[in-house]
Amino acid sequence: MTDITLTNKLLLQFTSLFWKSMDWLYPPRCCNCDRWGFVLCEECFKLIEPLNGNLCKKCGHPIFGKSSFCEECRLSPPPYTQMLSWTSHTGPAQKAIHALKYKRNLAMGRILAQPLVDIIEKSGWKIDLVVPIPLSKTRMRTRGYNQAALISSYLAASLYIQHSANCVKRVRDTSTQIDMDVNKRFTNLLDAFYANPATLTKRNILIIDDVITTGATMQNCAKALLNAGAEKIYCLSVARAILRHEKHHQGLASNSALQSL
Ligand SMILES: [Zn+2]
Ligand SMILES: [Zn+2]
Repeated sequence: MTDITLTNKLLLQFTSLFWKSMDWLYPPRCCNCDRWGFVLCEECFKLIEPLNGNLCKKCGHPIFGKSSFCEECRLSPPPYTQMLSWTSHTGPAQKAIHALKYKRNLAMGRILAQPLVDIIEKSGWKIDLVVPIPLSKTRMRTRGYNQAALISSYLAASLYIQHSANCVKRVRDTSTQIDMDVNKRFTNLLDAFYANPATLTKRNILIIDDVITTGATMQNCAKALLNAGAEKIYCLSVARAILRHEKHHQGLASNSALQSL
């Protein structure tokens, strides 16, 4: 048994035991139906519908018709190899992410990581390293934890893949993006990330985030990793904002879904 396999097995056993003890000491309530004993009960979990149908083979957004790529990826291909999300940012999934992000429901990271593990196992992606989208220092100080790292660390341990929360950093604080249109979001994030070449050269990296809105964060983080010598970048999130027409990136700028992020 390799060191990474043994370490990950021990880590998973420890986390599972830890959260079982926490549930016993402080019984949780389902973030969607308020039922005692679960952070997200089985019934509410089953209500979450995975994204399916015809998805853009590059950015993973649902598309109409039979083309393989959405209009935006055809016109301006993103720097990553492929991006996928488990579900749309609505209903119980939205509430679960909200609980993880704003209500300190840390156990939710493990619950939301599991469907992502299943997606990776089916994807055929060859991944050497898993990284979460980093928070800025200011956000880290106020929140106290990175919600994406809670998901990515459990996911990496389950798949026996190396995990690093330090090799890519936000080098400057970016303004809050809620009220920005897509162009402003991209400009706001330009050069916001720095990736350390020492751990990245020639490696295939998987970036994890909780929610994708316009994709600006993933694209800029992917660029930083590629500039640092990474080989291929894959992006995966729990949820994403979906619009019912193909011009999704621009359309999202005025979509009310952004207001809840
Ligand atoms: Zn429930
Ligand atoms: Zn696309």
